[in-house]
Amino acid sequence: MEESKQLPLLSLIVPVLNEEESIGPFLDAIQLKLAGLPADLEILFIDDGSTDGTITEIERAAAYDNSIRYLKLSRNFGKEAAMTAGLDHAKGDAVVPIDVDLQDPPELIHEFVRLWQEGYDTVYGMRASREEDGRRKRASAGLFYRVFNHLSHTYIPPNAGDYRLISRRVVDVIRQMPERNRFMKGMFAWPGYPSTGVEYDRPARFAGETKWNYWKLWNFALDGLTSFSTWPLRIWSYIGGVIALLSLIYMVGIIIHTVIAGVEWPGYASIMSAVLFFGSIQLISIGVLGEYIGRLYVESKQRPIYMVDKD
Ligand code: UDP
Ligand code: MG
Repeated sequence: MEESKQLPLLSLIVPVLNEEESIGPFLDAIQLKLAGLPADLEILFIDDGSTDGTITEIERAAAYDNSIRYLKLSRNFGKEAAMTAGLDHAKGDAVVPIDVDLQDPPELIHEFVRLWQEGYDTVYGMRASREEDGRRKRASAGLFYRVFNHLSHTYIPPNAGDYRLISRRVVDVIRQMPERNRFMKGMFAWPGYPSTGVEYDRPARFAGETKWNYWKLWNFALDGLTSFSTWPLRIWSYIGGVIALLSLIYMVGIIIHTVIAGVEWPGYASIMSAVLFFGSIQLISIGVLGEYIGRLYVESKQRPIYMVDKD
């Protein structure tokens, strides 16, 4: 036991929302698959406002294993906030956010740690395939990463999730990022530093069900884009410029036509289409402004990102 003092400490951050049936199997898998890891483990559960027996399960496990710690948030704040709480409270020299549903295979951590000890600050898991996701989800995720990486200076590797190892210095950078709209995938990538990926096959959830739906995913994508790019705001000057130019050409055309052919009354269709077209362009651009202003409003309130009820 004396020599285990030399080992680095690795913190697993495990956000959980109503996962009572997953806690036990998760801990068993960790124990089984991470035996012989050249690091001491700290398992930090963040109960994100569960309303089932999740916290009882965690307390029971923590009672006889002192590498297990937990935080209980005062209500459901969302996975991103729960991970933030985990990053703030983890003590490790490196940190691995991991899902409790075993969709993030624990055995991958051996490879994470090996590459970390080779000098990488971030080692992210990359899904080799997204078979379990279904066609529509895969296509929309693919589109999102393409758009994001085009618009943002921060590159996020497609098919990388939150499952990754990040070193202490990256954790400390992320802890200095005060934003309330926390798109963690982008925030994990923002600090830079040497990083690499490891491929894995992501299995299906083994118990319980996903907390995502399309509406949540859409808002998640908007959070990501607005947090890491101002392009959607700025593009309207260019769209406006192009439309103004086209209008000018059209105007000159009409004037010449009128001079040559005289005044014509009919024109309902063209006027109607112009009114509708410009109306919708303006609404869209105001909507985009709204997306940013809404987020600015949230940021300006400076509310805490999460509240701890018990730790
Ligand atoms: N989770 C959370 N708070 C939430 C939603 C989810 O802490 O508001 C946790 C959940 O318990 C799980 C992890 O985040 O450990 C991933 O959630 P899920 O499996 O539903 O996401 P998916 O794997 O489908 O992307
Ligand atoms: Mg899952």
